[in-house]
Amino acid sequence: MKLNKYLCLTCSLAFLAVNADAVELCGNLNQGELVIGKLDSSGEVYLNGNKINVDKDGTFLMAFSRDEKNDQLLSVVNGQGETQNFTLSIAPTDWNIQNITGVPPRKVNPSDGDLAAINKENSLLGRAFKVVNQETFWHQGFIKPVDGRISGEFGGQRIMNKVPKSPHRGMDIAAKEGTPVKAAASGKVALAYPDLFYSGNVVVLDHGFGLQTIYAHLKEIKVKLGETVAQGDIIGLVGKTGRATGPHLHFGASLRNLRFNPQSLLDMNNNLQKCFTLQTK
Ligand SMILES: [Zn+2]
Repeated sequence: MKLNKYLCLTCSLAFLAVNADAVELCGNLNQGELVIGKLDSSGEVYLNGNKINVDKDGTFLMAFSRDEKNDQLLSVVNGQGETQNFTLSIAPTDWNIQNITGVPPRKVNPSDGDLAAINKENSLLGRAFKVVNQETFWHQGFIKPVDGRISGEFGGQRIMNKVPKSPHRGMDIAAKEGTPVKAAASGKVALAYPDLFYSGNVVVLDHGFGLQTIYAHLKEIKVKLGETVAQGDIIGLVGKTGRATGPHLHFGASLRNLRFNPQSLLDMNNNLQKCFTLQTK
């Protein structure tokens, strides 16, 4: 880049063209996915006009919701104040939708009494998911927190008596009650709370830059709010607390308060081998 600058001082247009900083993305531009971006020099990054964190090494994180239908505008402002805009089209994902009829109505709609408990849960989790810490723990990649069969995928949805229920916002891993649950990556405990309506005993780990993982239905919580844990540390035991029909771990992921498929965290190190360079249109 430096050499081009000197060779081409008078031809500013050509200079601008060769000066464009490369922006790489790693992962899949699909609904529900987490994508890692990389700048080859320092710069600021905006997603749909909102500034997002960029780490010292030029990496940044983006995630797309289960139902994202709109193109995403990624803007990169380089050290010289020049802006490059990229339009990212998000491909649809074929989510698993099941129609279930003949369900007793009281099981489909929560009672008024339940609503207070549900609101409390939403506000506690919402607060944890809005935390944006500058310290990053996600570079090491993520491990599956429990060995076991995936009994429920992210994005699955049940339509009960023709009423669409909330889509599944995490991954269920079936395991025996009492199986240790490991931290998928190092991080800080952003929530360790007992007995929530849906999640039961729940832990949220904060991995920095607004990225959190959630561990629900625990039999027991083994960490305290604010504690730092290392990847693989035991944070709780598999249980069936909250709304769970049998023992399993509900493992979820959130970026800047947007839920995405935790499978893309487990795939992070693979996805880092599948990068592509964005071209300005
Ligand atoms: Zn679940």
